[in-house]
Amino acid sequence: MSEVDNSSRVALVTGGSRGIGRAICLELARRGHPVAVNYATRPDAAEEVVAEIESLGGKAMAVRADVADEDQVTDLFDAVSEGLGQVAVLVNNAGINRDNLLLRMSTEDFDTVIATNLRSAYLCTKAALRSMLRAKWGRIICVASVAGVAGNPGQANYAASKAGLIGFAKTVAKEVGSRGITVNTIAPGFIETDMTEALSDDVKAASLAAVSLGRFGRPEEVAALAGFLASEAASYITGQVVMVDGGLAI
Ligand code: NAP
Repeated sequence: MSEVDNSSRVALVTGGSRGIGRAICLELARRGHPVAVNYATRPDAAEEVVAEIESLGGKAMAVRADVADEDQVTDLFDAVSEGLGQVAVLVNNAGINRDNLLLRMSTEDFDTVIATNLRSAYLCTKAALRSMLRAKWGRIICVASVAGVAGNPGQANYAASKAGLIGFAKTVAKEVGSRGITVNTIAPGFIETDMTEALSDDVKAASLAAVSLGRFGRPEEVAALAGFLASEAASYITGQVVMVDGGLAI
């Protein structure tokens, strides 16, 4: 258990039902936060995370919302506030990819990725800030990607969304820093989740060859940093981008 009582610091993790988001939900619950597990399409996966948190003695709820949709984000925050309380820790984690070389990329795939990965963070952060400003305390963590820092062929839409998240987080960090709210970005490298499972063996082998630690990362290894950034121990860290990539981007 945590050294600080986090039982009134409600955490909302977008895309918390699977992969990295799921691991972040479990880490924040382990640290004593009540956790809202947001998902878009798979209620079973979200309910499993809630059940796991409850079996560990924690408090959690699952909430469906497409975080790219403004009305659904409004409903999401209303549901969390009613079910658990005002959001004090927001993790903008929900993300998708629609990879293709730029010349073959459809405008629809470009727009969908930007909306799901970047517009979502704009909508959720704005909604979360109201209660954080009142409380004069808050933690906002964005999950970007090494692709947003270094670029990656076939991911112009995804890399643009993640680079956008980095600029967004740094700007909000400057806007709300004086109110006790920190805003940081985690940039994972290649982490074993459904998203990377879908890649071809050739792409996986090429990625692995570039990882200094010689292996892919686990969602828990990203979640450990999210837990730290949400804690009192990270109270003087804001506007940062921290890579969790096994040395991929060195
Ligand atoms: P994942 O396993 O594919 O899980 C994606 C999660 O996002 C699911 O919970 C999914 O919910 C949710 N989601 C998708 N679209 C949504 C929407 N419109 N509204 C609300 N929730 C939505 O992905 P992951 O690998 O854990 O990735 C998590 C984050 O880390 C993403 O932002 C990703 O870009 C980033 N990242 C991942 C890696 C990696 O190697 N895996 C590397 C760098 C960055 P449903 O199942 O209900 O649709």
